[in-house]
Amino acid sequence: MQETFFETRSGAHIPTGLPGGFFIYEADAEERILFADINVIQIYGCETYAEFLAFVGESFTGMVHPEDLNRIENQIQAQTSFGEKRHDYVRYRILTKQGEVRYIEDFGHLLHWVNGRSFFYVFIVDVDQNEFFNRNRNSLAEAEILSSAQDTTDPLTGLFNMSFFYQRVQTILSSPEGRRQELSIVHFDIPNFKLYNERHGFKLGDDLLCELAGTIRQTFLEATVARFSDDHFFVCTSGSREAVLAGVQGIQRAMMLSENAAKKARVKAGIYFFDDRCTEVGLACDHARLACNSIKGRHDVNFCIYDEMLRERLRRQQYVVDHVDEAIREKYIQVYYQPVIRVRTGEICGYEALVRWIDPQIGFLSPADFIETLEHFHLIHLVDQYVVDRVCQDYCALLAAGEPLVPISVNISRLDFELCDIFGIVEETRAKYDVPRHMLDLEITESALNDNLGHIRTECERMRALSYHIWLDDFGSGYSSLNTLAEYDFDVLKLDLVFLRSYDRNPKTASLMSYIIKGAIGMNLSPLCEGVETQEHYEFLKRVGCERAQGYYFGKPMPMEESRIFTSGKGFAWERAEAAEEA
Ligand code: C2E
Ligand code: CA
Ligand code: CA
Repeated sequence: MQETFFETRSGAHIPTGLPGGFFIYEADAEERILFADINVIQIYGCETYAEFLAFVGESFTGMVHPEDLNRIENQIQAQTSFGEKRHDYVRYRILTKQGEVRYIEDFGHLLHWVNGRSFFYVFIVDVDQNEFFNRNRNSLAEAEILSSAQDTTDPLTGLFNMSFFYQRVQTILSSPEGRRQELSIVHFDIPNFKLYNERHGFKLGDDLLCELAGTIRQTFLEATVARFSDDHFFVCTSGSREAVLAGVQGIQRAMMLSENAAKKARVKAGIYFFDDRCTEVGLACDHARLACNSIKGRHDVNFCIYDEMLRERLRRQQYVVDHVDEAIREKYIQVYYQPVIRVRTGEICGYEALVRWIDPQIGFLSPADFIETLEHFHLIHLVDQYVVDRVCQDYCALLAAGEPLVPISVNISRLDFELCDIFGIVEETRAKYDVPRHMLDLEITESALNDNLGHIRTECERMRALSYHIWLDDFGSGYSSLNTLAEYDFDVLKLDLVFLRSYDRNPKTASLMSYIIKGAIGMNLSPLCEGVETQEHYEFLKRVGCERAQGYYFGKPMPMEESRIFTSGKGFAWERAEAAEEA
């Protein structure tokens, strides 16, 4: 084979087609190429420098295979941004002008020049595929860089790993410049990422993570960026609050608007602005993470700033979780009762049991303050079991006092079915107090029926076979589908408060409610309307033939004794058991 030589301006002769070449690019966002020798040009299948520049778009980013770009950009940054380290070693694939894939080893040296400009002097070698994937045959120098990279970076995305991020941020926090800057921590996470993996496979899942890593790094150029695990990314940045918020929203937009459908994802963010510099890194990251988690189920909010209000809410949550056992034991949790009225007769035909937590330390808590928390921490069954027990006791007390009796309905959480044998416990408790089955009704929400095993449905059928009544609660509040009504057997359909609130504003709601009520009756489901607050609401329900009504107009939830005195004062009587059967 005949050797050809490339003549340099200094008169030297370099053999062309050598396996290695040399180029220089500017270390800024554009990564513009300033020089490439003939061997680099030929590795890319080009003949002239101009042809090469046009082919790679004059930028280092155009020299790397698109699938490897994000990873290695992150790796280079991770390897060189650590103070005195100015060398990087990365491997990537390239595409030649002829479309051929080649495997490249890249040794970079970061040099700083005047005016704050920096350049990468890079030596690349075209290696064969085996060598490319074989990490055991590295030279001492490569091995050194690689092993330090392994200690500091995440192999998938090339971002820093958690321990190195902690170390670096701590250094920034305690440095004199760091102390003068506004610093913040941002946590990014992709909701339901596990589901994404299941649906699209791990390869696309990994691609999505690399895409997000790249988008974050390109947005927060000067920041320290890490991936801690799975889809959990952290950024420590020194920008102003406005700049941080703009960056976060920019990343969210870019990920939502990605042209590649598999790389489109909703990203949630939690932000912690350092307010006192004593905060420890781990704690600051926890704050950002908690802020992010606090909006997990929210479809309308994509980021949350950790602030005093959130801190207070989390404190309250913690209190609820830590004290629920005590609140049950000491009876701080109490059962209130709200009357249900038979519309046709105006008599009380039932009560709904609703919990209240009256705490000696923090005062009155309504269900909104603790039910969701207890569900979140899988403790709700403790309360629901307790309510069933209290309701049976209260029933026995009324019986012993010779008071008129009507059925009482209890709220069953969807999670109760996972956390205990809730219906088994209902049946056991009822038997213990000798309460007739038709005196204890069970309210469940539609979301409960969407369990994927159909277990709850079977359970409900079993209870109905025992002659319990199952009520469908909160119909119309969220994800109801009319189909549920046809698919399952219930006894009572509770129209959520939202209907009457909407009725007040929108005349069309009246027709909608009228159809639902008539449809329910046609399907042998007794309709009950919640949230009756005015005489007008009551008259409307009479007109459209709604069978039962509940709301502040008849009485708010109160302790049983108080509620009975209150409704007696308003002239309401109790329905007799025979009348209930006739109805
Ligand atoms: P829910 O089962 O839909 O209960 C009806 C809620 O509407 C009650 O709120 C009640 O006080 C309120 N309400 C009744 N009438 C009116 C009215 O005319 N106007 C307005 N604006 N509101 C009215 P509460 O007692 O705060 O309970 C809220 C939710 O907490 C309940 O909604 C239920 O989902 C849950 N909950 C309450 N007690 C328990 C329980 O023992 N176990 C479980 N798992 N959840 C419970
Ligand atoms: Ca209810
Ligand atoms: Ca309800």
